[in-house]
Amino acid sequence: MKKIQNYINGQLVAPLSGKYINNVDPSRGEVYSQIPNSDAADVQQAVAAAQKAFPIWSAMSTKERSDILLKVSQLIDEKLDFLAQAESLDNGKPLSLATHVDIPRARDNFAFFATAILHDEAPFHDMGGKGFNYTLRQPIGVVGCISPWNLPLYLFSWKIAPALAAGNCVVAKPSEVTPMTAYLLSEICQEAGMPAGVLNILHGLGPSVGQAIVEHPQIKVISFTGGTKTGEHLARTAAPMFKKLSLELGGKNPNLIFADCDFDKAVKTSVTSSFANQGQICLCGSRIFVERSIYDKFKTAFVERVKSLKVGPPTNADSRMGAVVSKDHMEKVLGYIELAKQEGGTILHGGERLYMEGEYANGFYISPTVIEGLSYDCRTNQEEIFGPVVTITPFDTEEEALMMANSTQYGLAATVWTENLNRAHRVANNLESGIVWINCWLVRDLRTLFGGMKNSGVGREGGYEALHFFTEAKNVCLSY
Ligand code: NAD
Repeated sequence: MKKIQNYINGQLVAPLSGKYINNVDPSRGEVYSQIPNSDAADVQQAVAAAQKAFPIWSAMSTKERSDILLKVSQLIDEKLDFLAQAESLDNGKPLSLATHVDIPRARDNFAFFATAILHDEAPFHDMGGKGFNYTLRQPIGVVGCISPWNLPLYLFSWKIAPALAAGNCVVAKPSEVTPMTAYLLSEICQEAGMPAGVLNILHGLGPSVGQAIVEHPQIKVISFTGGTKTGEHLARTAAPMFKKLSLELGGKNPNLIFADCDFDKAVKTSVTSSFANQGQICLCGSRIFVERSIYDKFKTAFVERVKSLKVGPPTNADSRMGAVVSKDHMEKVLGYIELAKQEGGTILHGGERLYMEGEYANGFYISPTVIEGLSYDCRTNQEEIFGPVVTITPFDTEEEALMMANSTQYGLAATVWTENLNRAHRVANNLESGIVWINCWLVRDLRTLFGGMKNSGVGREGGYEALHFFTEAKNVCLSY
């Protein structure tokens, strides 16, 4: 059975404890590889390697750093099919999704930040003949990056690429649930000629190796994507140490459908935004609010389309949905479907575990589930489920739609469907959400900000915001 390794000081190494944990293929429900069960001792080695590499990496010209990161991007592109297969096997997502979204976006993240540093500028403030100020943005040192399982390489690269491009050295931890492509990235970094110790990748559990990264006094920055509860725990450790923190956390995203929308496009895109990646994208719309005059028409068309979503083994070309990521997660999602029934919800479609045939019989599959008849403030409509479950609720006025949309503790992403220009912008303005899509979903321009308000996070990733987060800004003032 394949044993993956930590990547420390440019070498692939076993954990110091010699202990490993099992890694499960969710499409078959069976162990297929093992990953290091790393701990604080491995973190210490990684930090020492990163500290040693920092003076070399940070002193390189931006062009030299850019070339190495572009090489990483190029190698991801060359190995795209191989990486997509690994991602799909590790996560349970359809191979087509990994091939067309996850891996290309990881490749593009490296290319974007590799070239962004060549074009970055810093402010200069002239004091009108009395002197001037300029801003230096300097790399910070050793930074920690911790990522989740839903878009494994994509979100891992979203942190690592700007951190490295800005001149820092990195100690990173992918989710223990989906470690494979981060391991393959280690091999790519070796091939790309990245100097030893610049990037270190440790595998293992959150409370041990993750916690040790957050607690380490020489790690000055923590960039974290994951659940809101974990983020809260991290902040409690990191804040008193005055670490710089970026937290990308949970969501419960509203999808507002007004009667004057482009109906067919709204239905089609809403099915995708509800169930892409088995509903396991932090940006998926999990609460659909529909103006009452088109509620029945929308509901019928939506459910009809959901019925045609094929759930199946990730490698089948016609599978639109694969397996959810783990047995625990499947049970959590099924538990929420039971809760929805207890809260008075009616299941319009789905609502159960699905069983495939042959080698996939023990995989973790759930049918796409549509629920109506729930109050906007019940637990099903307030708590993050993070699976293929969407609720649908009518509204009468724009004010009511906004009130229900804004009623949760979260504020990550929202979608608005209307052909009324004024309403589109007014609603976007009034939504408590870090990202608003008008008549589209998941359209990304890598220059734009990304992140949530309220309990969905602290800070923003994306574009120069991410690059600058990984620097310390210094104002230099000269008076004549
Ligand atoms: P999680 O919080 O359980 O784990 C995320 C990462 O944190 C993992 O690598 C885990 O090992 C690590 N971790 C756990 N405990 C830790 C600790 N005490 N110290 C340090 N690290 C620790 O989240 P998950 O289940 O992997 O991912 C799903 C969650 O991520 C959902 O809530 C989803 O909304 C969120 N998410 C948010 C975004 C965003 O951009 N806002 C993107 C993707 C996923």
